[in-house]
Amino acid sequence: MKQSDKELPPTVLQARNSGAAQLALAGLPDSRIEADLLLSHVLGTERSALVAYPDRVVPSGEAAAFQTLLERRKHREPIAYITGEAAFRSFVFSVGPGCLIPRPETELLVDKALSLAGWRRFIDWGTGSGCISLSLLLERPDASTAFAVDASSAALRWAWKNVRDFEMHSGGRLWHGSSFYAIPADVLPVDLLVSNPPYIPTYRLAALPEDVLKEPVTALDGGRSGLDIAVHILKNAANVVRSGGFVLMEIGEDRQAQELSSLEAPGLIFRETIKDYNSISRIVLWSRV
Ligand code: GLN
Repeated sequence: MKQSDKELPPTVLQARNSGAAQLALAGLPDSRIEADLLLSHVLGTERSALVAYPDRVVPSGEAAAFQTLLERRKHREPIAYITGEAAFRSFVFSVGPGCLIPRPETELLVDKALSLAGWRRFIDWGTGSGCISLSLLLERPDASTAFAVDASSAALRWAWKNVRDFEMHSGGRLWHGSSFYAIPADVLPVDLLVSNPPYIPTYRLAALPEDVLKEPVTALDGGRSGLDIAVHILKNAANVVRSGGFVLMEIGEDRQAQELSSLEAPGLIFRETIKDYNSISRIVLWSRV
């Protein structure tokens, strides 16, 4: 009996179209680009190669693997967790369940840190994948020491993988903890304290997209107003940052910027709020008296 067309391995174009159609049917808005990301991941090629060679055959093993990834995406597993990678600035960091996926707005936090003069040693409070610390070390050659902290050991495993992959072992330390009092004395004082803390108000968590909820809730949940961790950082910053140093933080909305900038933070002077590309107050800067 003649083998039916259905059983023939698909071409790249057929696989792309089928993948995009399946994801669209599952209600995923970016179905075309997501199908391409998954297919290029399976084939180990760039997305541009999918466009350039539409008639190439996708071997049946790869076609089956692609289908498995499509099913995972249909179940709202984040694309970055499926591929194990997230682009941030000009780098690609390893990510997976247990760490927050780097967001484009956090690139603004790194931009602002890079624009500040006179710092070399810094603390990254809530490092997650390590994307902030590593970007700062990679992009600012005179940044000498990162002390990257996270309360989650699962997140730190991803940070450690990234430190190894970028061969940045000598650039800093990863540290498991959540108390400023436990920071080893030899790290202090630092010139800069930078953080992308969890800042989503608890009551809003349930309304987040299903795939965001696959990320660790401890990296998202900022308590009742979303500012629990931000306030904790501000209350402790003066003990770890040297005089003339900086505290730089990402936040989620204008109301949070207003609340934080008017907060009594011992030893700190509020400097400025920076808006993101959607005109939302996103980054807040203080300097240490
Ligand atoms: N920007 C993230 C989001 O909106 C939140 C990250 C955070 O709480 N720091 O999903």
